[in-house]
Amino acid sequence: EYVIINGDFINRSDAKIDMEDRGYQFGDGVYEVIRVYNGKMFTAKEHLERLMVSGKKIGMEISYSVQEIKDMLTELISKNQLTHGTIYMQVSRGIAPRNHAYPATDVAQTFVANTKSVDRPARNMEKGVNTILVEDIRWLLCDIKSLNLLGNIMAKQKAVDAGCFEAIQHRGDIVTEGSSSNVSIIKDGKVITHPADNLILNGITRQKVLEVCRNNNIPVEEREFSLEELKSADEIFISGTTVEVTPIIEIAGEKVGDGTPGAVSRQIQELFKKAIEEECGC
Ligand code: PMP
Repeated sequence: EYVIINGDFINRSDAKIDMEDRGYQFGDGVYEVIRVYNGKMFTAKEHLERLMVSGKKIGMEISYSVQEIKDMLTELISKNQLTHGTIYMQVSRGIAPRNHAYPATDVAQTFVANTKSVDRPARNMEKGVNTILVEDIRWLLCDIKSLNLLGNIMAKQKAVDAGCFEAIQHRGDIVTEGSSSNVSIIKDGKVITHPADNLILNGITRQKVLEVCRNNNIPVEEREFSLEELKSADEIFISGTTVEVTPIIEIAGEKVGDGTPGAVSRQIQELFKKAIEEECGC
């Protein structure tokens, strides 16, 4: 299995990261996860452009272009003979003696990438998943795909401890997003999801879902919605690169609708699948 470190393709067992890498010490960097279907990346451009924007938002101009990264990742897929799976990549502000202040701009960033073979989440997409509610305790720049994920992982662990798949976060009365997914509700046939502001990560899957809905006359509304609206929704789904469009059938032990995935969620899953087929031919 090959990985990329700073443009080199090396065996994973030979990969070394310096212990003073700022990604390791401070979580000082940004990342992306791209889905691979049929050996082809899905929405790679969107993910890589978001990586550039995340970098800019933390004052780190990423030293590769979108095309350069795309070419490296394509080669990695090929070297690892990846058919269905994910590519993880992260860029940190580089290696420097530990100091909170940014190092000089001539310090090289650390770019790493690796692949993982995974199937589509067929069962969860078919049956739906259970969730819990947790207060969103994260910082106020959730639009940045930052390496700092403590708030997210603590939320996810609460879900796991409760025997659930995902934690739905809320800031007071307002539902924000999952620990690693966006949340949408459906009420009277309309898809409602939190606006893409600083309180959520603007998921590439979320954007694709909104696009296919708009193109297929499914009404969408990007606005804040309350816990009460969540609890009284007809349907709920989460979206994300690895979960695709997964229906939520239970929140904190309470059934959503009749406790099975609803018709609109099913339709959106189909439209999303079509988008994958169009781009990746599978
Ligand atoms: N929100 C958070 C907090 C995430 O970590 C993710 C990524 N899994 C998403 C939303 C969904 O983003 P995307 O569709 O780009 O994977």
